Amino acid sequence: MHEVNDNIGAHMSISGGVHKAIERGKSVRHQVVQIFTKNNMQWQAKEFASAELDAFQKAKDDSGIHSVIAHNSYLINLAALKEDTYEKSMLAFADEMKRCHQLKIKYLVFHPGSHGGAGEENGLNKIAESLNRLLDKHNKWEVHPTFETTAGQGKNLGYSFEHFNYLLDKIEQKERIAFCVDTCHIFAAGYDISTEEGYKKTFDAFDSSIGLDKIAVFHVNDSKKELGSRVDRHEHLGKGTIGVDAFRLLMKDERFKDVPKILETPKGDDLKEDIINTNLLRSF
Ligand SMILES: [Zn+2]
Ligand SMILES: [Zn+2]
Repeated sequence: MHEVNDNIGAHMSISGGVHKAIERGKSVRHQVVQIFTKNNMQWQAKEFASAELDAFQKAKDDSGIHSVIAHNSYLINLAALKEDTYEKSMLAFADEMKRCHQLKIKYLVFHPGSHGGAGEENGLNKIAESLNRLLDKHNKWEVHPTFETTAGQGKNLGYSFEHFNYLLDKIEQKERIAFCVDTCHIFAAGYDISTEEGYKKTFDAFDSSIGLDKIAVFHVNDSKKELGSRVDRHEHLGKGTIGVDAFRLLMKDERFKDVPKILETPKGDDLKEDIINTNLLRSF
């Protein structure tokens, strides 16, 4: 591999084993990849066999892919009101951290959670308390829980940078927390990155609430829905309501040149759409 490191990648399926995601990323000449470490719609997963872990590291070493990001299960809600769902969420989150540790994945992206009607402040307090427990208990794992910015559908938290400012304030081991900025989500949440002026304002706001150095990952998606719609629907780059300028600004932004940029746009098994979106990003 003699290519320039542009940190572009995509979310890849682990169908056939976790190592398969690496092979999929390599097949479209990506340098980073995002995976689920297990079926994301189930609470439980079988432990990794050591052969699986070996196959994963070997595939990674052979691939030119230098970093792998994990995304946790959609079922997990660290602010769940139902005791049963909450306990399952805490166990599943810890298990995801362990799986990342075993795969040597540093960043575990997760959605902050839904307050379920308890109110935003109560929800945020519960998320902070949950992370304090998780980080305290699993001190040895070098895994950074990585908050993803959300569109704010329904009762989901994390659509405002202020939410994260509040969370960081309550989290004890702040240095272990990282962030994932999803371009579709922040736009749907009302941050207008479609123009140069709006892009600058958005990241200035992020910087003062959270800190740009906390950004470990970008999810690079256009949006099907309008600015401030609070609806999360991903679109191919340049084909949605954000438009191509935001992605050009992001790719050219020196502050983020070392930050992995992950596509989560719709695609088929042949990954043709990933290639088109990747080529567009590389053209900037
Ligand atoms: Zn995302
Ligand atoms: Zn999304």
